[in-house]
Amino acid sequence: MKVLLLENIHDAARESLVHAGFEVETRSGALDEPELIEALAGVDMVGIRSKTQVTRAVLEARPELKVVGAFCIGTNQIDLDAAAQAGTVVFNAPFSNTRSVVELALAEIISLARHLTDKSAALHAGVWDKSAKGAHEVRGRTLGIIGYGNIGAQLSVVAEAFGMHVYFYDLEDKLPLGNATQVGSLDELLATCETITLHVDGRAGNAGNFGAEQFATMRPRSLFLNLSRGFVVDLEALRDNLVSGHIAGAAVDVFPSEPKRAGDPFENCLQGIPNVILTPHVGGSTEEAQLDIGRYVSGKLRDWAVTGATTMSVNVPAVAAPTVHGGTRILHLHKNVPGVLARVNTILSEGDVNIDSQQLSTKGEFGYAVTDLASDLPANTEQRLRGLEETVEVRVIVTA
Ligand code: NAD
Repeated sequence: MKVLLLENIHDAARESLVHAGFEVETRSGALDEPELIEALAGVDMVGIRSKTQVTRAVLEARPELKVVGAFCIGTNQIDLDAAAQAGTVVFNAPFSNTRSVVELALAEIISLARHLTDKSAALHAGVWDKSAKGAHEVRGRTLGIIGYGNIGAQLSVVAEAFGMHVYFYDLEDKLPLGNATQVGSLDELLATCETITLHVDGRAGNAGNFGAEQFATMRPRSLFLNLSRGFVVDLEALRDNLVSGHIAGAAVDVFPSEPKRAGDPFENCLQGIPNVILTPHVGGSTEEAQLDIGRYVSGKLRDWAVTGATTMSVNVPAVAAPTVHGGTRILHLHKNVPGVLARVNTILSEGDVNIDSQQLSTKGEFGYAVTDLASDLPANTEQRLRGLEETVEVRVIVTA
């Protein structure tokens, strides 16, 4: 397998793929569409981060591309439907930076409660502002988490270790960790807690759904954090509430529009307001997270190549496909229509092969069947599987 790694992916990924016997080429920057199509000649797997767009045109021009590894969290830069239709499997690293976001959120909650950034700025400017006024411990305070997913749930555990009382609101029923309490409405959460932190996902319905009305419902002198998505919060409304003193402090890591490159200028209505921490979308940006992403996604690429495993793929059905020895494995990605597995098995039985084991998983329009045989697969049987109308991709692995 030949792998192309773009966009300065952590070297741990290259090392792990080379160690697994792959031919690996690395390039530092992102490529535009024509450059990418050219660079993908003869490439089985590509590793990208957020700047490389894997479009339908790229996938159609390079049908030999088998896997896209997104060495990041988001996959908006990849046409996932076109990839599945082309039989190209996509993996990402959904959990690698969860802890990094949690640690930053907690650091900011403490910093806001103690006015740390203002105290530090004052002292840098030569002002000795020694005073306990408005400074609080977080122990015993109430934390309201909106969105109790990977990040929200982990923050809940770490905040409790600091003695905070945790409440959360989620659209779904969630298992509360530790002593956390799920409340039935956003208004109830806002009225209960004096520190509110947003960790919702990027679904379209979340656009602009935290604005003037929600800030008005918050308790006076509350703290507010958003490390989720920039488009969720009306920043003008937040500014008004900070200026009026209704909100005592805020930390914002994500913005409705963000500069494209490090070093680009940035302007925002929250600049210059006391006790406001602004960070350039670095919640998940730590060396530990980058290392973990490199290891995690390269592991997914390796497992797919060696066993056909699609566990945690974002666009095709998940099959764990444990390693087998001394046989043949058929990996069959197909359109999920009635009777397709029966047609696959009819072809196998007409080829006089005996099935040792078979796993099937379906997801939306697609099904993925992993079939193990103790014997070889006759060449015309593979051809017949390829010729099935429902077949998207067939791969045969002979296991040592
Ligand atoms: P997740 O999908 O595991 O959890 C999101 C949770 O929010 C889900 O439980 C969902 O049911 C809930 N939810 C969605 N809309 C809601 C709403 N309107 N009200 C209440 N609950 C709602 O996601 P995650 O991995 O925990 O990530 C959370 C957010 O953090 C995402 O938007 C992600 O993009 C962002 N993120 C930011 C950074 C950063 O650098 N700042 C890094 C990683 C992730």
